[in-house]
Order: sequence, then structure tokens, then C-alpha cells
Amino acid sequence: MKIVFATNNLNKLSEIRQLLPDNIDILSLEDIDCVNDLPETKETLEGNAMQKADFIFRKYGLSCFADDTGLEIDALNGAPGVYSARYAGLECDAEKNIAKVLSQLENEKDRKAQFRTVIALIIEGKRYYFEGNCIGNITTGILGCQGFGYDPIFTPNGFNRTFAEMSKVDKNLISHRGNAVRKLIEFLSKG
Ligand code: IMP
Repeated sequence: MKIVFATNNLNKLSEIRQLLPDNIDILSLEDIDCVNDLPETKETLEGNAMQKADFIFRKYGLSCFADDTGLEIDALNGAPGVYSARYAGLECDAEKNIAKVLSQLENEKDRKAQFRTVIALIIEGKRYYFEGNCIGNITTGILGCQGFGYDPIFTPNGFNRTFAEMSKVDKNLISHRGNAVRKLIEFLSKG
């Protein structure tokens, strides 16, 4: 089975390829010669994930899925949430986003947070959603250099390491995206 993963994020692509069985062949946007920036203008993770998948389905007619992830911090009423990618402004990067979160949580005792991933799948024209989350805490400083995004400031419950201090394999076992992808795989495997 060939299916497009509508993302320009190479980290996500490699995380997901690691989880999929051999009979599911994931095509990247590069593989289908798609050089567009995918639209991502909705106000929910579900909306953004389906908007990206829908863009590829309409343009190429291929089965595809897309994900959208947000970091939801309790003390910030669920922010940055759907705005996680551009939390520190349109021209921001992971370093600036992390700096903003750490500064907003300075002196805050409640560090609880969760990553939440929604995957939208379009297969044979039908639409499905899969969700995964990972609950943990925001650290007070940056720890580790693996992974991407907010990984250096997130410690999943039951661990004393951040995602950025874990291997890709270990992160996948417990991560939001890993949990959502396992649901996607179970669905695709049922055929
Ligand atoms: P998106 O799903 O690519 O839109 O992700 C939104 C934001 O969340 C981006 O800033 C990513 O860097 C961040 N993000 C997504 N997945 C992860 C993850 O697994 N770890 C840390 N940050 C993530």
C-alpha cells in the first residue's frame, strides 16, 4: 500500500517510517514532486490536519494522511496548543518558542502539559481521524539535543529524561505521535 504523508518535517517522516510495517510504503511530498507549502489556517488540530491531507488529496488524488500536533500547557490554559509552531511570532524558531514558554512559566509551580497529535487520513475518498497524546511536565531549563520542537523542555510522566534526551525509538514508544500512528496502523492493517 502506498500512502502520502503530507508533511515537510523530515523528523516526523523518519519517526513514522520507523513505526510502519514493511507493507505500507510512505511517500513524502518530495516523492510526489510537491513543493507547495501546505495550508494550515484552521483553529483546531483536527481542522489543520484535515486541511493538509485534503490539499494533497484534491491536487494529486492520492491516499494520504497529515498530522498536526500541539503542546497544551495547563498553567497557560492549553497554550500554545494549535499555535505551537508560531508561538513566539511568525518568524520564530524552536529556540524562541521554548524561550517564550520558559519565561511564561517562570515561578510557576504547575508544570503539567500534554502533547496532542491528530492524524487526518483520506483513503479511497473517505475521511478518518486518529488521536494520540502524551502527558508530562515542562522542565525549568533546556535538557538534551535530540528530537525537535519543544522536546528539550518536555519530560513525559514516568521518566526523568526529556524527549530530547531519548532515542527516536524510545520516544516513539510513548509519544503522542507514536500513539496516534499506532491507531492509524491498526486501522490500515485491518485493510
Ligand atoms: P506541527 O504538527 O508540525 O504543526 O507542530 C506544531 C509545533 O509543535 C511545531 O513547533 C513543532 O516543532 C512542535 N512539535 C510537533 N511535534 C513535536 C514533538 O514530537 N516534539 C516536540 N515538539 C513538537
